[in-house]
Amino acid sequence: MVDLTRKFDVLVIGGGNAALCAAISARRAGASVLVLEGAPKFYRGGNTRHTRNMRCAHDSATDILTGPYTEEEFWNDLLVVTGGQTDEELAKFMIRESKDILGWVVEQGVRWQPSLGGTLSLGRTNSFFLGGGRAMLNALYLTAEKLGVDILYDAEVLDLEIDNGMFLSAALKQGDGRADVRASALVAAAGGFEANIEWLREYWGEAADNFLIRGTPYNRGSILKMLLAKGVQEIGDPTQCHAVAIDARAPKFDGGIITRHDSVVFGIVVNNHAQRFYDEGEDIWPKRYAIWGRLVAAQPDQIAYIIFDSTVVTSFMPTLFPPIAGESIAELAAKLELDPAALEKTVADFNAAVQPGTFDHTILDDCRTEGVTPAKTHWARRIETAPYLAYPVRPGITFTYLGTRVNKQSRMLMKDGKPAANMFAAGEIMAGNVLGKGYAAGIGMTIGSVFGRVAGREAAKNAKN
Ligand SMILES: Cc1cc2nc3c(=O)[nH]c(=O)nc-3n(C[C@H](O)[C@H](O)[C@H](O)COP(=O)(O)OP(=O)(O)OC[C@H]3O[C@@H](n4cnc5c(N)ncnc54)[C@H](O)[C@@H]3O)c2cc1C
Repeated sequence: MVDLTRKFDVLVIGGGNAALCAAISARRAGASVLVLEGAPKFYRGGNTRHTRNMRCAHDSATDILTGPYTEEEFWNDLLVVTGGQTDEELAKFMIRESKDILGWVVEQGVRWQPSLGGTLSLGRTNSFFLGGGRAMLNALYLTAEKLGVDILYDAEVLDLEIDNGMFLSAALKQGDGRADVRASALVAAAGGFEANIEWLREYWGEAADNFLIRGTPYNRGSILKMLLAKGVQEIGDPTQCHAVAIDARAPKFDGGIITRHDSVVFGIVVNNHAQRFYDEGEDIWPKRYAIWGRLVAAQPDQIAYIIFDSTVVTSFMPTLFPPIAGESIAELAAKLELDPAALEKTVADFNAAVQPGTFDHTILDDCRTEGVTPAKTHWARRIETAPYLAYPVRPGITFTYLGTRVNKQSRMLMKDGKPAANMFAAGEIMAGNVLGKGYAAGIGMTIGSVFGRVAGREAAKNAKN
């Protein structure tokens, strides 16, 4: 039984990677810590449950990483994917700290495993959690419990008492009632607002109704909204998010990793007018997979179809939902409820534009089109061997980037630019500091781990009120 009448040094809101890293770090720094997880115990851990890997800089190969990934290379990758929309000082700080995180999470009980093969090609840059995100979380929860961190589940925070940048107390849901809890410092690690369709609708209009949410239904952005309303400075464009193309047959929430499609580079993608709309071979898949959610979101009715043929079915990870098949392009179109003549023309135009080359999906190969718009600049091969296959895809929203502005201590900044007295943030809720737009696989967990660890340590040091 957690005693809510006592005052804690550090209150952590959230129950995912960022929250647990913060809680462990604060506790190790000597603070008494309470974690409030809004979800029931079985669903603890938010989007972190669905993760597989984390991107960290390292100067040489490790037991599980196949080669070095320097700070400079990490920074360059981040620059490219964000188009420069990142806080350079903070991002470089995160990259530097990420080196240490590889060992630190192991000290907290997490185990690594070598990368899986397949289209993501992450064996050199990303470390994979042995047993996936849920196993990683279980290890962090166990460590937190052993260290004496108090944890409450089904404990959604409904309100925050903040006076001029000073956190005082939080009101949480307790059964049918409410309870107040006081703490000397706050770490907000309650995720983005991706599961709040009404909030998404404010920026995306009715299109948001067709979005599928890949992760937890509990990340409704309520803490973010409260903090912004109580004077914390916001960062990030509210329409920017990590969004991938996922199977249109996936559930509305929590479909997780297995609903994602990585077959784009092996075929073409058309909208419901059977028209192509983007270069399917623009860049290596780990650098481009995260743009396809937005691209599909911009298409009529927010739906698209990955079209390929039987020669490539074993080239990518097996999918949860089987492809829809037709013996001819016209038959496939009919099954997809697309205009058969329009799809036949799109495929024929594409096939006619394919140039000879040597196919290799692990490099920017020379298989490209000429004379078709949009071009497919790599991995272009004719779609000509029946059965013809398709996956219907919708935007799968992973997490949003609008967040609270922080400094290198993970300390929130107030609207007047002053640092908050005792309020820190980590994870998705502040991801927009690093990710103005775009994404490179594994950075979500880097943001949560690095800033979570810092936030916990700093919160313990600044347990003020
Ligand atoms: C399918 C999928 C796969 C992914 N794979 C990867 C990957 O392999 N690598 C990677 O780096 N990133 C990946 N991501 C992104 C990654 O999950 C996030 O970046 C990361 O987990 C964020 O951690 P967090 O602690 O900030 O948020 P979360 O883990 O989402 O935790 C937020 C927590 O806040 C709680 N909460 C929300 N509101 C309240 C409230 N009012 N009161 C109390 N608690 C509240 C939620 O219940 C939840 O526990 C993936 C995401 C998804 C959906």
